[in-house]
Amino acid sequence: MERVRFAPSPTGHLHIGGARTALFNYLYAKRTGGKFLLRIEDTDLNRSTEESEKVIIEGLKWLGINWDEGIEVGGEHGPYRSTERVDIYNPYVEKLLEEGKAYLCYCSEEELEREREEALKKGEMPRYSGKCRHLTKEDRERLEKEGRKPVVRFRVPNNEPIIIEDLVRGRVEFNSNDIGDFIIVKSDGIPVYNFAVTIDDYLMEITTVIRGEEHLSNTPRQILIYKALGFDVPKFAHVSLILGKDRTKMSKRHGSTWVEQYKDAGYLPEAINNFLALLGWSPEGEEEIFSMSELENIFDINRVSKNPAVFDIDKLNYINGIYIRKSELDKIVDLAIPHLIKAGFIDEDFVKENREWISKVVDAVRGGLSYVGEIVNHVGIFFGEEVKLEDDEAKEVLKQEHIPALLDEFKNILLETETVTKENAKEIMNEIKNRTGAKGKALFMPVRVSVTGQVHGPELVNILEILGKDLLIKRIDYVRQNLL
Ligand code: GLU
Repeated sequence: MERVRFAPSPTGHLHIGGARTALFNYLYAKRTGGKFLLRIEDTDLNRSTEESEKVIIEGLKWLGINWDEGIEVGGEHGPYRSTERVDIYNPYVEKLLEEGKAYLCYCSEEELEREREEALKKGEMPRYSGKCRHLTKEDRERLEKEGRKPVVRFRVPNNEPIIIEDLVRGRVEFNSNDIGDFIIVKSDGIPVYNFAVTIDDYLMEITTVIRGEEHLSNTPRQILIYKALGFDVPKFAHVSLILGKDRTKMSKRHGSTWVEQYKDAGYLPEAINNFLALLGWSPEGEEEIFSMSELENIFDINRVSKNPAVFDIDKLNYINGIYIRKSELDKIVDLAIPHLIKAGFIDEDFVKENREWISKVVDAVRGGLSYVGEIVNHVGIFFGEEVKLEDDEAKEVLKQEHIPALLDEFKNILLETETVTKENAKEIMNEIKNRTGAKGKALFMPVRVSVTGQVHGPELVNILEILGKDLLIKRIDYVRQNLL
């Protein structure tokens, strides 16, 4: 059975790229009937925080990328946080030391820095010189007396080809000669990522490691550790970087890069997943809109491209718009309310009394939304007694000769109407037509502009129902007195 994992370092937010890696792992597990694990790699003590772990976990849950085993969920291979596994790593470090496959290195930061600079000056790739490779017991005792704390270095074998048959990139070859002896345990006794990840993936019985391309250069080191310990090497799939539209690495400059930012703006998790799935993977056929369960059935790692994926916000907006229109209205209303409150259109008390009215507003405008937060730019027409003409086009509409008479009849009909509903709004329009003779554009435009100030917007019958009799009359009066 396939076992895959997402192994974020809790050093920041859940990035779009991280979410995509998690999603690909999740979908791979679902598609193959395997298990998906969540492990937290917090070996970088300076940068890891509990807050970040929380944010990442919340982001995954929000997306519905649920894991079968790992943090919070538990399982047979725990603990699932690296810093809680130090005792588990130690015997493997001892084994490598005993077998001479690793050694203690006492070089100080300054010495290493000097070596690095010298190498760079000579135009060579800086890598560890191997100075501590052959220390005797006496050497070690002397260095320890000086108060030096050792690191553990992996003894990289000479001239060994390291080959990865990558599920995404195909065959990738390295040679051990390009890798200097690397640190596996820091002087504080905490193993570095490359070591911890190898032991963890082995003990957690991970069969396929799916992760970002930025880790490809780590993989040969990990393979050397697998081999030194006699472990089977898992399969690897290194998924390409995500680029901005200008084809540079996706960063803040290209817009929001964290999942929470999209959540806060009012993107739907289904849409984000759909969009992320298409960042690098392409289905057979033309269809691009897939629910999570559809993705679970059709995702195929062999159809993941090794070319970089380009993050196209317009495409995300397009997909999200589709999901906003498909969603239960109530769900969109729930998402819209905080935005409407924040923008000052409504407050908590108003929400309690007028949820149904708010629903109608949301329903009237959701067709034009790319993300729910955008709603604040579309609902101004539903609030206030005054009418502000948006542009010259709107002003032109009200300059027509028949407008005063039309508005007077419109008001008369409203006075004769008990309440305005979507259904009788059509009759009201008909009645204006009968009484004034105006029809088509000459009828609809003046009505629209006089009650909203705009020539575009939601469907007129929706607008009339939402504004309601009293407000419509107030606006007609306002226009009559101030704008004609
Ligand atoms: N902890 C690593 C990161 O957050 C992931 C390592 C891996 O997937 O092997 O980049």
